[in-house]
Amino acid sequence: MAVIRRLTSPVDERPIASVEELDLEATDAAIKRAAAAAPGWAAVSPGDRARLLHRAAGAVDGALEELARLEVANAGHTISNARLEAANVRDVLAYYAGAPERHTDRQIPVAGGVDVTFHEPLGVVGVIVPWNFPMPIASWAIAPALAAGNCVVVKPAELTPLTALRIAGLCHEAGIPEDVLQVLPGEGPVVGWRLVTSEAVRKVCFTGSTGVGKQIMAGCADQVKRLTLELGGKSANIVFADADLERAAASTPASVFDNAGQDCCARSRLLVERRVYDAFLELLEPAVRAFRVKDPFADDAEMGQLISAERRGAVASYLDGDAPVAFRGSAPSGPGHWFAPTVLAPVEPTSRLAREEIFGPVLAVIAFEDEAEAVRIANDSDYGLSGSVWSRDVGRAFRVARALETGTLSINSHSSVRYWTPFGGMKQSGLGRELGPDALAAFSEEKNVFVETGG
Ligand code: NAD
Repeated sequence: MAVIRRLTSPVDERPIASVEELDLEATDAAIKRAAAAAPGWAAVSPGDRARLLHRAAGAVDGALEELARLEVANAGHTISNARLEAANVRDVLAYYAGAPERHTDRQIPVAGGVDVTFHEPLGVVGVIVPWNFPMPIASWAIAPALAAGNCVVVKPAELTPLTALRIAGLCHEAGIPEDVLQVLPGEGPVVGWRLVTSEAVRKVCFTGSTGVGKQIMAGCADQVKRLTLELGGKSANIVFADADLERAAASTPASVFDNAGQDCCARSRLLVERRVYDAFLELLEPAVRAFRVKDPFADDAEMGQLISAERRGAVASYLDGDAPVAFRGSAPSGPGHWFAPTVLAPVEPTSRLAREEIFGPVLAVIAFEDEAEAVRIANDSDYGLSGSVWSRDVGRAFRVARALETGTLSINSHSSVRYWTPFGGMKQSGLGRELGPDALAAFSEEKNVFVETGG
C-alpha cells in the first residue's frame, strides 16, 4: 500500500508538500517499465541522445530559480548555494550531452584478425540519493548513465524528494521518455533495497552513510552487481606555518560550516602547525563569529538550518560533557533546527570528536609538530574523501597532497567538486569515481570482439 509522506520545511517547520511513497509492488512495476524501455533507449542514436540531454539542460536552465527555492524550502540550503546546485544540474546535463558522440571504442592490433571493443550500456541503473545535496548528487549519476544508454531509476532521500521529482519532470518535458528516467520516492529499506535485490537493476550508485553503504555493498555481492559508493568523510584541512594564514583562516568557516556542515566533503578536522596554532585561532575566531547564520532565503545567508530535529539532536550530543568548546558563532532562535557554528580546540586525534563524522557545523582543531605528523594524523582515519593543504612551499604542498589517503584535494583553497574532474573517496569514503571525463566507464561494460580475417 502506498504511503503518503507529509514533508515539513526545516526552515520554519511548516508543511510544504505531501508525497506518495512507493511500496514494493509499485517499485517492481517501475523497474519493469525501465527494463522494458532499456533496449529502445540504448538504440537511440548518439546524436539524438545528445540532443535530448541538451534539451534537458535547457529545461533545467529555465527553472533554476524555481528549483533553488524548492530546495531551500525542502532542505534548508541557503538560496545562494541552492542556485549554484540547480545550475550544477544544468551544467552536468550539458557536459554529458557531449558524451554520447565521444564515447568511442578501440581497435587493438592482433594477429590474424581485427579486434574491437564496444561500450555496452548496463540496462537499468538504480541511484540512491541522500538528503544533503539532493539535486547535484542525483544528476551526477543520471546524466552520465543516460548518456551511456542506460535507463535510470532514482530513489531520493525520504526527507528531500521534491527537486528530484521536478528535475525528472523537466527532463520529460524536454523529450526524455518517462520510463527512461523515473524518480521513485520511498523508504530506503523498501524502495532503495529493492534496487539492490532486483535482478533487473544492473548497477547501483549509492551516496549516503558508510553504514548503509556497507549493507548495500554486501547486498550487491549476491548478483555481483556493479556498484559505486560515495560515503562519509572526516576531511582534514592542514595549515602549515608558512601558509597565508589570513586567507586560510578567512576561508576555514565555509570549508566546514557550508550547508550547516552536512557535507561529505566538510573539512571537519583543522590541523594547524603548533608554532602558529595560537595565532591561527586568533584569526579564526572573528571569521567564525562573522559567519552569517540566518534565514536561508536571504541572499547573503551563509548557513541555514539543519535538516531535522533528529539531526540537530545527533549533532548536539557531541557537545555533551567535556567537549572542549573554544568559541562559537551565532544562530537565530525560533522555528527551524538552528545550530551555531562551533569550534572545538584542542581535540585529541584519538577522540571521537576527531574520528566520527558529526555531519553538523562542528570543527575539531588539532595541533601538529611537523609535516610527517600532519600526514600521519590526517591519514589516521577510516575515511578519505576530501581535504585541503595550505602552504606557500609548493613542493611541500604537492608532497603532502600525494601522501594523503584521500580522493579529492585542494591546495591553498577549499575547492568544491567540479563536474568535469573526477570525484570520489578512498578507504571507507567510497568505491569508484563519479564525474569527470571518464564517468561513462562506470555506466557501461567493455566488450571485446575478435574477428578472424584469415591469412
Ligand atoms: P543514509 O545512508 O541514511 O541514506 C542515504 C540514502 O539511502 C537515502 O535515500 C536512504 O533512504 C537510503 N537508504 C537507507 N537505508 C537503506 C537501505 N537499507 N537500503 C537501500 N537504501 C537505503 O545517508 P543520509 O543520512 O541520507 O546522508 C548523509 C550521509 O551521506 C553522510 O554520511 C554523508 O557523508 C554521505 N554523503 C556522501 C557523499 C559523497 O559523495 N561521498 C555525498 C553526500 C553525502
